[in-house]
Amino acid sequence: MTVRRLLVIGGDAAGMGTATQARRLDPDLEIVVAEQGRFTSYSACGIPYVVGGEVASIEDLVVKTPGELRAKHRIDVRIRHEVVALDLDLRQAEVRDLERERTIRLPFDQLAFGTGARPIRPDLPGIDEPWVRGVQNLEDGAALLDHAQRSRCRDVIIAGAGYIGLEMAEAFHRRGARVTLVEAGDHVMGRTLDADLASRLSDALAELGVKVRLGERVESFDKGKVVTANGALPADLVVLGLGVEPNADLAAEAGLELGARGAIQVDRRQQTSAEGVYAAGDCADTFDLIARRRIHIALGTVANRTARVAGMNIGGRYSTFPGVVGTAVTKVCSTEVGRTGLTESQAADAGFESVSATIDSTVRSGYLPDAEPITVKLVAERRTGRLLGGQIVGGPGAAKRVDVLATALYAGLSAADLVDVDLSYAPPFSPVWDPVQAAARQVLGHI
Ligand SMILES: Cc1cc2nc3c(=O)[nH]c(=O)nc-3n(C[C@H](O)[C@H](O)[C@H](O)COP(=O)(O)OP(=O)(O)OC[C@H]3O[C@@H](n4cnc5c(N)ncnc54)[C@H](O)[C@@H]3O)c2cc1C
Repeated sequence: MTVRRLLVIGGDAAGMGTATQARRLDPDLEIVVAEQGRFTSYSACGIPYVVGGEVASIEDLVVKTPGELRAKHRIDVRIRHEVVALDLDLRQAEVRDLERERTIRLPFDQLAFGTGARPIRPDLPGIDEPWVRGVQNLEDGAALLDHAQRSRCRDVIIAGAGYIGLEMAEAFHRRGARVTLVEAGDHVMGRTLDADLASRLSDALAELGVKVRLGERVESFDKGKVVTANGALPADLVVLGLGVEPNADLAAEAGLELGARGAIQVDRRQQTSAEGVYAAGDCADTFDLIARRRIHIALGTVANRTARVAGMNIGGRYSTFPGVVGTAVTKVCSTEVGRTGLTESQAADAGFESVSATIDSTVRSGYLPDAEPITVKLVAERRTGRLLGGQIVGGPGAAKRVDVLATALYAGLSAADLVDVDLSYAPPFSPVWDPVQAAARQVLGHI
């Protein structure tokens, strides 16, 4: 019997998820994973909690080491191996062994991309200074931590107020630094929250003592100063949180079609434009189930789910990925944020005529101690009342309520349907009308 070989590029969520799923279904497949870094199967999501001191070390974020993957899953994991070129006709990869400084050629039958995304680094003067750092993988996390431990880091500037910027702001606030968020847009979490909900988050940041400078674009980094149009801010360290772009150069050079925002275009089985070549996670595009268009979304949740589908198809099953509604949660100290679907402005961009309603409530019955505040905003389609999106800001216990909204969106429920869903209640968990249902009742009045 000829042994077929699967080559996987990238050894984190998408790459290892694809490899382990394929292994479960096909015990005879030879699986090689090339990972350019030193770590495999890690949680980049945990980096802010190591920097903030809640998790002891970067190594604690490794879920499975290369040794464990070899022993348990019979996957030939090659760390410090970078795939530098591909010939899809010859079914051959050129792989650079970064330790031995030599290049090898690796034939394959099937190929899977799990090359992830990279932080956006605009071409600004001084951006390559050692005190200006991006954060994407564990090597970045380790370097950032090392810098924070060795240097004073009294003044920390976070460039970009997306969720990674906010989580890093919390991390350095916990370390006792004076933290300033500099954001070019007019509100924090500009791509994920509407301005009214974002202002509640800005208030929470101000209460913590984190300064938020909105509408201010970073222009350069010079001798311990971040220069913006409004002046120069002192900085011992700058963390870039300007968003990410898909790592799809290798795929493009190999001749694969690119899709949304330059990510690798995939079909519903996670197959690329070439037969037997798959992609999953942050490097691939996906389908927005609400706006009904292809998008690029960089989240660990999507990476794991798309990898499962890619691995199943490689392993001989028929599996499809329907798409995403765009659900995410984060927090800054005790203020939690959840979001799903479209914001009001995204709904308008997607051509919907929408209505919205915002309610203030509590995460548990108001007469109990720790009945923290929660604000829920719902966006629904005018006339049909179909739910298009939801945003939540509130105290502990608030954010994960967004999963009810995500489920409602995925199922295509209307605001009226959500009012009728049989949700649970007891005073320690919610008011008798859960805040998400209270918001649904409110939005019904506008349809
Ligand atoms: C600070 C931070 C916090 C986050 N928090 C959350 C969160 O709370 N929730 C959430 O859902 N998501 C979160 N994310 C996003 C999540 O980490 C990513 O979506 C997820 O890691 C994507 O997995 P991936 O395997 O597609 O890509 P990556 O994790 O980027 O892995 C890609 C791998 O491919 C390797 N690689 C790339 N090119 C090559 C090549 N040519 N040859 C060999 N190897 C290559 C890279 O070294 C890398 O290890 C966070 C991300 C960061 C940075």
